[in-house]
Amino acid sequence: MNATVYLDYNASAPMWPEAAEAAAEAMRAGANASSIHAPGRAARARVEQARQSVARLVGADPAGIVFTGGGTEANNQAIRCCGAARVLVSAIEHESALSADERAVRLPVTADGVIDLEALDRALAAAPRPALVAVMLANNETGVVQPVAGAVAAARRHGARVHCDAVQAAGKIPVDAAALGADSYAVSAHKLGGPQGVGALVLRDPDGAAPLIHGGGQERGRRAGTENVAGIAGFGRAAEIAAQRLDEFARLSALRDRMEAEIRALDPGAWMPGAAAPRLPNTSMAVMPGCESAAQVIAMDLDGIAVSAGSACSSGRVRPPYVLAAMGVDEDAAMCALRVSLGWRTTAGEVDRFVAAWARLRDRTARRVA
Ligand code: PLP
Repeated sequence: MNATVYLDYNASAPMWPEAAEAAAEAMRAGANASSIHAPGRAARARVEQARQSVARLVGADPAGIVFTGGGTEANNQAIRCCGAARVLVSAIEHESALSADERAVRLPVTADGVIDLEALDRALAAAPRPALVAVMLANNETGVVQPVAGAVAAARRHGARVHCDAVQAAGKIPVDAAALGADSYAVSAHKLGGPQGVGALVLRDPDGAAPLIHGGGQERGRRAGTENVAGIAGFGRAAEIAAQRLDEFARLSALRDRMEAEIRALDPGAWMPGAAAPRLPNTSMAVMPGCESAAQVIAMDLDGIAVSAGSACSSGRVRPPYVLAAMGVDEDAAMCALRVSLGWRTTAGEVDRFVAAWARLRDRTARRVA
């Protein structure tokens, strides 16, 4: 029996062994990072080293890093605790950004899945001040990279702030927070080979967000609660390795492009929403006409291949992915989209196995439809 081919890195990437070891070491050592005795100081040192590493990965000042319980919390804090009179979110944001403010205005995207900067400009002109724009750096489902610097320029024209969800981008493509110019960023450890349940809010102004979670004075009063030292240590180590091995992600785009070309050759009706726009090197959203996403995921699973139907958060609910709906993809096609996301352990042989499984499923679908 072959090992499972794991092609669901955008849901959660396997941990780098070094990151798992760093987390385990911190867990074995124990101690509270706020304690002043020697074991406490050792725990504090792990947290501060990780702060440096995460800051380096995204080109930010370590003073602006606030460790959180993940990307969801970082998005919530950025959006709920910035004091904006109006929040504007792109319609393709992750649910953690979309649902952080129920009064938020949704901004349209183009058919390629790119935020419409002219519509943003108009919405900003109509919004009460100060406004906050939330736009992601890369979409979790299509992989489409967003024009964040353009969104920042538009926001500045209207005196607005910008929060950028960099959860899927960090560790996959270079992220330079200072150059992009947003006021805050969300990052999550488990998307880049670190542990689940830990992330960071990255602030340009270290005091630029009020706390979402109140209590003790941890994280300089910006996030109460005893630090998850083991998680943070694993996050820091994962950030270091991801930064060192960023070039390897470039290798994945050739593999992804070959995979997509083979799928199109197998079925000229198959297509990839967002493929015409700049994308993450590892992500592919592929529509297999006539075969619903859930059926594809189950068939792939039986074939030993782990992939997903849109974002993991929306699986289990039978409705077309809202990201594709926002791009104007018709409902029948959107219901048949499969998300394939490669990562640091993916081999050419695994992609071959996926394409072979896709071909078998496509033949069965064609026979059923005929
Ligand atoms: N933002 C994006 C773009 C994501 O893909 C995800 C997770 O799927 C999140 C935020 C949430 O991150 P976390 O799982 O760390 O809460």
